[in-house]
Amino acid sequence: MQKLQGIAVSPGVAVGEALVMDNEGFRIPRRFVARDSVEDELERLKRAMDAASEEITRNRDAVSRELGEKYAAIFEAHLQMLQDSRLRSEIDKLISQNHYSPEYAVSRTLRRYAQVFQKLQSQYLAERANDIFDIEKRLLRNLLGRRREGISRLTSPVLILAHNLTPSETANLDRRFVKGFVTEVGGPGSHTAIVAEGLGIPAVVGTGPFLAEVSGGDLVIIDGDKGLVILHPDEETVARYRHEAEEIRTLAARLETLRELPAETADGVRIELYGNIEFPYEVDHCIERGADGVGLYRTEFLYLGAESEPDEEVHFEAYSRVIQSLADRPVTIRTFDLGADKVPHLPTPEDERNPFLGLRSIRLALRNVPMFRTQLRAILRASALGQVRVMFPLVSTILEFRQAKMVLADVIEDLEEHGVEYDHELQVGMMVEVPSAVMMIDHFVEEADFLSIGTNDLVQYTLAVDRSNKDVVGLYNSADPAVLKLISMTVQAAKRKGVPLSLCGQMSGNPIYTMLLVGMGLRQLSVTPSAIPEIKKVCRSVSIEECEAIANRALSMENARDIKNFLRKELKKHVPELVP
Ligand code: PEP
Ligand code: MG
Repeated sequence: MQKLQGIAVSPGVAVGEALVMDNEGFRIPRRFVARDSVEDELERLKRAMDAASEEITRNRDAVSRELGEKYAAIFEAHLQMLQDSRLRSEIDKLISQNHYSPEYAVSRTLRRYAQVFQKLQSQYLAERANDIFDIEKRLLRNLLGRRREGISRLTSPVLILAHNLTPSETANLDRRFVKGFVTEVGGPGSHTAIVAEGLGIPAVVGTGPFLAEVSGGDLVIIDGDKGLVILHPDEETVARYRHEAEEIRTLAARLETLRELPAETADGVRIELYGNIEFPYEVDHCIERGADGVGLYRTEFLYLGAESEPDEEVHFEAYSRVIQSLADRPVTIRTFDLGADKVPHLPTPEDERNPFLGLRSIRLALRNVPMFRTQLRAILRASALGQVRVMFPLVSTILEFRQAKMVLADVIEDLEEHGVEYDHELQVGMMVEVPSAVMMIDHFVEEADFLSIGTNDLVQYTLAVDRSNKDVVGLYNSADPAVLKLISMTVQAAKRKGVPLSLCGQMSGNPIYTMLLVGMGLRQLSVTPSAIPEIKKVCRSVSIEECEAIANRALSMENARDIKNFLRKELKKHVPELVP
């Protein structure tokens, strides 16, 4: 049994068979081959190695001709590694003695070599691990040929183990069969993590390298509450986790009874509870759990994974579906928030050194006005069909907000000219997720119809901590007093001006924060759909007075650890069934 500690990003427990992905997102097939086919498998390995050597030789010669010997040296080094007799005999031995498949033997051996490099102190040598991964890829490509399979055609339940998954790969996981996933890299606020929560499957990211230790078909446990991954668990551990999974299901069934009841505090104050969605089908998940509507529709997922830029009709169709499924409930459509870790297969800016500080979100939209206009036209047309609000992401200056509104006004003028219907009262709001927006919040409340606090980014930009980097996870904390102060400033400003305000970062879906947020004055929360019942349960278990006392106490503390411990204790006191 081997335990790995990673970062818990989506709660729940999953016990099942592993499906291991290589670095290019293809499956590494099962580990064993039949005893009587060992000779054939060794021959298959030899053919793949020969073919890979030929490819590298061709590359080496071509580069040498075009660029000179010096550049060809990279390929010469690959060739020497591939032809190293020690490497070859290690792989052969795993096939002939352990009866491993050549694919598994290759991956296991080369990943072990890569790990040795990765652990070396020298940055230069550590980066050589990439050369080894390159050789692994080449060999696997030759071994698998056309049998190379992604994860689109699954037929039985699996837990995906991968080096990395992009937000769009995660979004496309087949929910019928993928029961959880683990990635070696990734941080707590990455969009991959957010999508996992949206899918409602347990997930752990940022475990560090472990894929060399596991093979397809091995039994694995994912504990999405503690961020634990257990490889080759013993029977007792499996039984314990199966029991835990059963208890989670029982709690979920109990909370289902709240579905038709409002999120109303014990003293009768109504909290509006909305769902965050990435795809139209998720509206059903919101309604099933009794949401008041959709408080954040991340429309950038229309672009992620698409081969070409979605046209106006693609947008319009998606929005119409959402509106129809919502049946008179409201939806806040956020204009595309692309860039940083959400990069589509479309032309994007040159490699950026600091993509989270670069051409992202509204900045990207304002640089690509035709693309922005296409989306705005579709949103406006959809606004004639139901209760729609439009929201701009990552606004950092007042001029930026005005510029975005000007583009919108221009599109409206166009629709007017052509007699196209739209909601003339369309509410236009913005995300508050950059500290500069909070600092200038008194000006923004004069110009925005509504605000929504995005704590995922607000935490990142306040504490200067990359939300997708596992190495700084300790700093990425929504309970940090600096973040709470910014939230409080926003709440106060919105209240003074009477501007509707919600909070839609992941923080709002974590029950330990509900009493704090309500106590600070928030009356609208938009959360990941799977969290709706729990958040509703907290709201119905406490009074405003209790929440205010909790918020006052938390806001007087000086560090995130104390605040979080305090909030956990309070949750246990008021809603014990939610704290295991
Ligand atoms: C946020 O930043 O809190 C947010 C809701 O937006 P996203 O997670 O999509 O960046
Ligand atoms: Mg954001």
